[in-house]
Amino acid sequence: MFETLTDKLTAVINSISNKGRLTESDIDETLKEIRRALLEADVNFKVARSFVASIKEQVMGEEILSSMTAGQHVVKVTNDELIKTLGRDSVELIKTEKNNAILMVGLNGSGKTTSSVKLARYLKESGQSVGLVAADVHRPAAINQLSVLSDEVGVNLYEAGTEVSAAKVSRDGYKDGKNRDFDWTIIDTAGRFQVDDELMEELEEIKKSVNPTEVILVVDAMTGQESVNVAQDFHDRIGLTGLILTKMDGDARGGAALSITSVTGIPVKYIGIGERIDALERFHPDRLASRILGMGDVLTLAEKAQASFDQDQMADLEQKIRQATFDLEDFLNQMQAVKKMGSIGQLLEMVPGFSMMKGKVDTDDLEGNHLVKAESIIYSMTPEERSRPEIIGGSRRRRIAKGSGTSPQDVNQLLNQFKQVRKMMKDMSSPGGQQKMMRTLSQKGNPFGF
Ligand code: GDP
Repeated sequence: MFETLTDKLTAVINSISNKGRLTESDIDETLKEIRRALLEADVNFKVARSFVASIKEQVMGEEILSSMTAGQHVVKVTNDELIKTLGRDSVELIKTEKNNAILMVGLNGSGKTTSSVKLARYLKESGQSVGLVAADVHRPAAINQLSVLSDEVGVNLYEAGTEVSAAKVSRDGYKDGKNRDFDWTIIDTAGRFQVDDELMEELEEIKKSVNPTEVILVVDAMTGQESVNVAQDFHDRIGLTGLILTKMDGDARGGAALSITSVTGIPVKYIGIGERIDALERFHPDRLASRILGMGDVLTLAEKAQASFDQDQMADLEQKIRQATFDLEDFLNQMQAVKKMGSIGQLLEMVPGFSMMKGKVDTDDLEGNHLVKAESIIYSMTPEERSRPEIIGGSRRRRIAKGSGTSPQDVNQLLNQFKQVRKMMKDMSSPGGQQKMMRTLSQKGNPFGF
């Protein structure tokens, strides 16, 4: 996400963060680079201009510039300004006690149908009851797509084919949701390839007929400045309560998305970060700012971990680590849980400091080959070998390699990595362990092979 912008801003930030005492021309140079990075990432030029002007206003002044922590101060102000540009606070869905309707609107191809299902899944996972309504009565294929996806996430779909009006399907679907006592009814409406009167009239009519608590525009972040214009048009015509920015996993022109709230005043509530149905995140301006400045996002990482790891299994694991009985079977379970958390590249982006070494790691290779290979090697072991890897000698190693379609060297490498991870875990759970672990890491490198 925002790789180019992150790389550039991280470089600027790193060059200044440890500097004490700055001159006015240091500041001017830094701000020029920040502004260039924003413009290159397609951030709206007015937003970029006021962004740097505001930083300048806050850092100029003899007292700040001559302090020993002037550099850090600039970093802090830049971070705060970025949070402000992104909308300052994360904004929850507007919700009444029961039977809330969410109208999902957007242009064709923006990811509206996918996002409707992602949101349904997200709300369901958080323990709320949800139904979907197929109100795109112009495209039978859209109803089909919604039907397949809603089955996948186990959410009820109300549909009435293509012969009725969108307003009637929406009204009936919402009523059906009320009868079923759903907390949320998500209505997927039709799109167009561009904003037109006919579409807006249809949406106005639907809005009148269900009186939704939320009208969410789904915007493709890859469309650059055009996404800001589309948001403004929809807002002027039907009134929006929030945005979902999709395709934030791509890099190109994503900067427009950064300025969308500043320009339109509409808060971003969620972001789509991949094609998978679980690739939707709540939008937190402070966390995104931190990611963009290369400082990671530990909170989102922790939330993802919590959602993907079984709590009982975690407690069990903790005990095993303490008693040093962590085995290859556990290693396999952990790898699978990590995979459930999302793409490795996206996870690593959330690790503080990682952005600096991002270029050095081939995350596709890590994801595609490394994990698959490790998994198949462990699958080819007997239960005894998994719990006592030390019994694996030459002939067992050859048999495992043959069974998993790998080489004995690959098996050896995995066993060594496992030993290192086990040692790291043991270190970590002993007094003063974290420092010890960092020492092991700095001496031996990363045990996962990068
Ligand atoms: P609609 O016409 O607005 O309903 O768009 P769809 O929901 O059919 O999505 C259009 C395409 O965008 C599909 O191929 C989706 O898989 C893809 N898509 C949707 N959201 C995302 C996202 O967050 N990231 C990526 N990479 N693709 C997405």
